[in-house]
Amino acid sequence: MKPVKIGDVSISSIIEREGPWRAPNIMFPSATPEKLAEVMAQVPDFAYDRVKDLLCITYQTFVVRTPRCTALIDTCVGEHQRRPPALLFDKKPWLDGFAQHGLKFEDIDYVFCTHLHVDHVGWNTRLRDGRLVPTFPNAKYVFSRKEYEHWKQETDPGFAAIHEDCVEPIVNAGQALLVDDAYVLSDELALVPTPGHSPGHVCIDLKSRGERALFTGDMMHHCAQVIQPDWSSCFCFDVKESAATRWKFFREHANTDTLVIPTHFPGTTAGRIATMRDTFEFRFLAE
Ligand SMILES: [Zn+2]
Repeated sequence: MKPVKIGDVSISSIIEREGPWRAPNIMFPSATPEKLAEVMAQVPDFAYDRVKDLLCITYQTFVVRTPRCTALIDTCVGEHQRRPPALLFDKKPWLDGFAQHGLKFEDIDYVFCTHLHVDHVGWNTRLRDGRLVPTFPNAKYVFSRKEYEHWKQETDPGFAAIHEDCVEPIVNAGQALLVDDAYVLSDELALVPTPGHSPGHVCIDLKSRGERALFTGDMMHHCAQVIQPDWSSCFCFDVKESAATRWKFFREHANTDTLVIPTHFPGTTAGRIATMRDTFEFRFLAE
């Protein structure tokens, strides 16, 4: 992302991987070929590889520095081996990116996970002396209790492994804050319930000196979904609720100064929602 300031708070990101990734017709199963062609013609070149017909998807962790604390939002895939081969990204870019922020693991006060999917919890933990332990020893990790309870019961071996590797060690270490989906941490940081993509998906609401940013996690994966809010992703838990959440969010924030920061958007990542005829568009910040 392009680093930005919201009042007294600076926001930047650590990129784990970026570039062309998944075909739009796979990502949005409900989209008709005609509508896909129409919408993809409207998205910027950096967000869609037109030659390969692949959406450009970034995996990144946001670094939020307020006068009171240093927080991370969403922790990518990490270095766990029990993951699908396609997700075994090179570990160096994330570790180098973290170091380039002048940070040590000890410096992180809070870790927020918008939800507990594989690419949002990875660096929560690391293997040390044969045990998975919290990567950030002084951090409180803020998890939606609803989201946590859902994945704790999951029996699918792939999902269960994610929970066992990246979430349960945090709880066992006493570093988890299992909270309500509308939890308020401080005047600066709070959660906003945005269910659908996952049962307890939340946005992180940041306010400082009258300015506001919302980290929207996987409420949407691509700017095409701002034009077509009904297009839920193939990864959404409840496709109807996911679509309803986007409509509500876009109506609420369209044509406001609220900066919207979706985890997977490429380029400058952050932008604003604007109305466009009977729908919306995402206006990325300029480079
Ligand atoms: Zn994701």
